[in-house]
Amino acid sequence: MGKLKTFKGGIHPEYNKELSSSKAIRPAPIPERLIVPLSQHVGAPCDPIVSAGERVELGQKVGHSEAYVSAYVHSPVTGVVEEIVSRKNFAGQTVTCVVIAADKEQADFPKRSGFALESFTGEQIREIARDAGLVGMGGAAFPTHVKLSPPKDKPVDTVIINACECEPFLTCDYRLMIERADDLISGALMLKKAVGAERVIIGVEANKQDAADILKSKASGTPEVSVELIEVKYPQGAEKMLIYALTGRKVPPGKLPSEVGCLVQNVGTAVALFEAVAWGKPLYERVVTVTGPGINEPANLLVRVGTPISVLIDACGGYSREAPGKLIMGGPMTGWAQEDASTPVVKGTSGVVVLGKEAGAVVEESECVSCGKCIIACPMMLTPNLIVRSAKRGQWDRAKEFGALDCFECGCCSFECPAYIPHIKYVRRAKSMLATATK
Ligand code: SF4
Ligand code: SF4
Repeated sequence: MGKLKTFKGGIHPEYNKELSSSKAIRPAPIPERLIVPLSQHVGAPCDPIVSAGERVELGQKVGHSEAYVSAYVHSPVTGVVEEIVSRKNFAGQTVTCVVIAADKEQADFPKRSGFALESFTGEQIREIARDAGLVGMGGAAFPTHVKLSPPKDKPVDTVIINACECEPFLTCDYRLMIERADDLISGALMLKKAVGAERVIIGVEANKQDAADILKSKASGTPEVSVELIEVKYPQGAEKMLIYALTGRKVPPGKLPSEVGCLVQNVGTAVALFEAVAWGKPLYERVVTVTGPGINEPANLLVRVGTPISVLIDACGGYSREAPGKLIMGGPMTGWAQEDASTPVVKGTSGVVVLGKEAGAVVEESECVSCGKCIIACPMMLTPNLIVRSAKRGQWDRAKEFGALDCFECGCCSFECPAYIPHIKYVRRAKSMLATATK
């Protein structure tokens, strides 16, 4: 094999995917009570359109917003609305939630059959994505219908499926590639039609050769779909890094992928679009990897949105003797540490990772030793050390000059830093101060 494509910078953390990679997707238990946040996405939160005491059907819309940048929310079960409450979400923000008591018996979703892609226009696919409440399922949770509507003067010629899953520990996308390859390719072709692109490239990290082989064989009769292996490196799945690795195109700072004719969507989103278009199924469940040294039986679970993560931990044999360390929603690089396991799963939850005791130890940051490791690691070619220095001094414009606004919070800088400096904490402070200053 020749040299694999990649980007400059990045890191090579321990991937630890073997804990769950061989575990086929299985359904998680449906809890008696689900807590469904009405803001699970980038953009305007939804308003509840159901009230306490009302019966709801599986897949019924329970949250609506007139705002274009938003994503509707649907009931993950058939049951009765218990109450509408405000509570903290995984990121510590207070959001409105619909609490639903699930019926004991749950019927399967009534799938539509007889699907043919030719009978859908691009506009219809975009509308279905909106009606189904689709969002980017790699974690960012950006509303899919908005991404599928790039500016008219920025035509998209290439759809890229992010099949890297470069976050350590996570294997939910890998299992979808193995188990749902046909649906993934159909979803990719729907994305292509929705934006009028010419081709689809599925970018797979080289540590998933078997998944790439399956996808290649399934796509062999579809010349507009290609599967490319790329180097194993974090954050290979970040949009700008992936576009550069696969097409050689550079998205300018502050611009979107459509600037260079690309649309990037994650594996889970492509499968969810397939389900929405072919089956008429809204996004109310997703695959979540539950793993880490603190979990007895790591697994890939199909989980209803609104399920507390404690239910998933129990379904995986509970905490191991390594726990309690750190409980993370998402992957260890970009996920959110949780204080307890009552947080409900949302559309963007790709994993629940429980690290061992040593990860729970508090490490104090020390002074920067000017080693430059953070600069070498930064895939955006920023100077993270200088962003931190500026932020510590309250020099927000200087932080901006050093690229604070271009930082996408991948965490490579902190990973390499011998002084244990939490760069992202300072970047977020700078972003928030700069945003306040422009209001
Ligand atoms: S500065 Fe931002 S983009 Fe660069 S390595 Fe650090 S977190 Fe990643
Ligand atoms: S890696 Fe840490 S210690 Fe080294 S230059 Fe960057 S901030 Fe300073």
